[in-house]
Amino acid sequence: MDEKKKILVVEDQAINRGLLCQILADTYEVLEAENGQAALEILKRHGGGISLILLDIIMPVMDGYTFLSILKKDAAYSAIPVIVTTQSDGDSNELAALSHGATDFVAKPYKPQIILHRVASLISLSSLQKTAAMVSLFQTDRLTGLYSKEYFYEKAKEVLAQNPDKRYDLICSDIENFKLINDIFGIPTADKLLCGIADLYRKHVDAHGVCCRVNADRFACLVEHRQDYVNEMFVDVLEKVNAISEVKNIVMKWGVYPVNSDGASMEQMYDRALLAAQSIKGTYGTCFAVYDDALRSQMLRTQRLKDGMESALAEKQFEIYLQPKYRIQDGALIGAEALVRWNHPEWGFQSPAEFIPLFEKNGFITKLDQYVWDMACGVLEKWDRDGFLPLPVSVNVSRADIHQADIAQRLLDTVRRHGLSPDRLHLEITESAYTESTGQIVETVEHLRELGFIIEMDDFGSGYSSLNMLSRMPVDVLKLDMKFLQSEMERPAQEGVMQFIITLARFLKLIVIAEGVETEEELNRLREIDCDCVQGYYFAKPMPVEAFEAMMKETFTNIR
Ligand code: C2E
Ligand code: CA
Ligand code: CA
Repeated sequence: MDEKKKILVVEDQAINRGLLCQILADTYEVLEAENGQAALEILKRHGGGISLILLDIIMPVMDGYTFLSILKKDAAYSAIPVIVTTQSDGDSNELAALSHGATDFVAKPYKPQIILHRVASLISLSSLQKTAAMVSLFQTDRLTGLYSKEYFYEKAKEVLAQNPDKRYDLICSDIENFKLINDIFGIPTADKLLCGIADLYRKHVDAHGVCCRVNADRFACLVEHRQDYVNEMFVDVLEKVNAISEVKNIVMKWGVYPVNSDGASMEQMYDRALLAAQSIKGTYGTCFAVYDDALRSQMLRTQRLKDGMESALAEKQFEIYLQPKYRIQDGALIGAEALVRWNHPEWGFQSPAEFIPLFEKNGFITKLDQYVWDMACGVLEKWDRDGFLPLPVSVNVSRADIHQADIAQRLLDTVRRHGLSPDRLHLEITESAYTESTGQIVETVEHLRELGFIIEMDDFGSGYSSLNMLSRMPVDVLKLDMKFLQSEMERPAQEGVMQFIITLARFLKLIVIAEGVETEEELNRLREIDCDCVQGYYFAKPMPVEAFEAMMKETFTNIR
């Protein structure tokens, strides 16, 4: 059962107080005060928990009028309904009470039925008003005054239902790196920016659509459909956005979802618009994208890859391919890189270039990498057993792996499980991992080296690592990124930077491997500048382990 509502009776005469208590006590919890001052103290103690006040006017210490005017000025109490109890039937007292903010009045002597009736109806009226105020609070976004997301969805549904013959688009917008704006310019400036954007939308959408702030820096509008969106329209808005505050160079992306009758919910429509916006994230100069079937199937594919990853691991759908590495000087096979492949039961072999970034985002990469390491070590163990050359194999170690506290122990356990010494497993760590959070990574990698693992810095030259930093990095091998080699080939040898890098690497006692060697020309250039090793399609593509073993046998026989 509901708790009894609280009523405060303010009356200096004990008899009258007693009477009122008697009338009300069955239905309500009654609190008593003998003057205005005492009543204020009770209010302070019970706060907003009081549903109604019955107030006498003439009282010692603090009279009813003074109490009323204090009450009405305080936002915390001003909404509590007040019934003034008057002695006479004279209109003047009652009018004065009403003008001070009383809601109603009752005359003495008290008639129980009338008092109970008035009290009940005032309490229910005021709780209705409270609900209405709450609703309007939820209807609008506090900061910008636009609709809230929930209310927007309701409104948009209404618009769609009322205009079955019209077509609409759901457009959303997203500011790139909004968190950075918050951090650099501070919250007041970022808020000003958001309010400015809200104003722009309000003006644009006016009577023909609805708009809202969905969350943080994301807005959504439902507007009449058009076929002819062009980039300039959005560039125009973006210019206005950049003029709102001192924040310049804001990049914003818009996604358009043309509403159709496929039964999607408002949330789904918004998600699709957002997906379109996110599909052009980082694409310079492109401000908007329309959600279409290609995007939809891309999204479904991504989803299915993610849905299938755990069972794929359990069902051993992941395999490793090996790509050989050679020494340039004498063409000797010096090792291999293990590259994961997903042999999907429906779609066949899937490229890691597609699924690895997904797994890096959702964290699954650490599980998959551990699996690959185990497979690579399994292969090495088998080679040792079968009397193959004791070549090393390198595995990729992703950023998420290095951030794990137990990474060194995990890798050590892995090689030990297969009876290998750590130097048989080379660890390829991407250059950008080093530049991101230098301190911790350097420590971890140093530890791994002490344990005996060989560290290869992968994709060197693709990021922003400075040469200066290189001297402090715990690495053994530098793997030059494929793009580095390609851009080098566009210049004459003496003008290239690669020569310089190799000289520096010599000085730092690092071995240099060039990745992605595809042509004889490239190989010759690498030979010229004294690069140590190569890996690339010119020699061999990544291949199944059996093929690699066959190749090893051949090499072995040739040498003999
Ligand atoms: P990566 O580590 O830079 O690996 C080299 C990629 O270049 C491989 O692509 C390889 O097949 C390709 N490649 C080798 N030689 C040539 C060439 O001459 N020309 C061209 N155009 N490409 C060449 P792949 O196997 O598709 O792997 C792509 C990326 O996926 C890898 O780049 C690596 O970042 C990631 N990856 C692959 N396997 C794993 C894994 O087991 N764990 C983690 N964390 N990442 C992996
Ligand atoms: Ca690699
Ligand atoms: Ca690489």
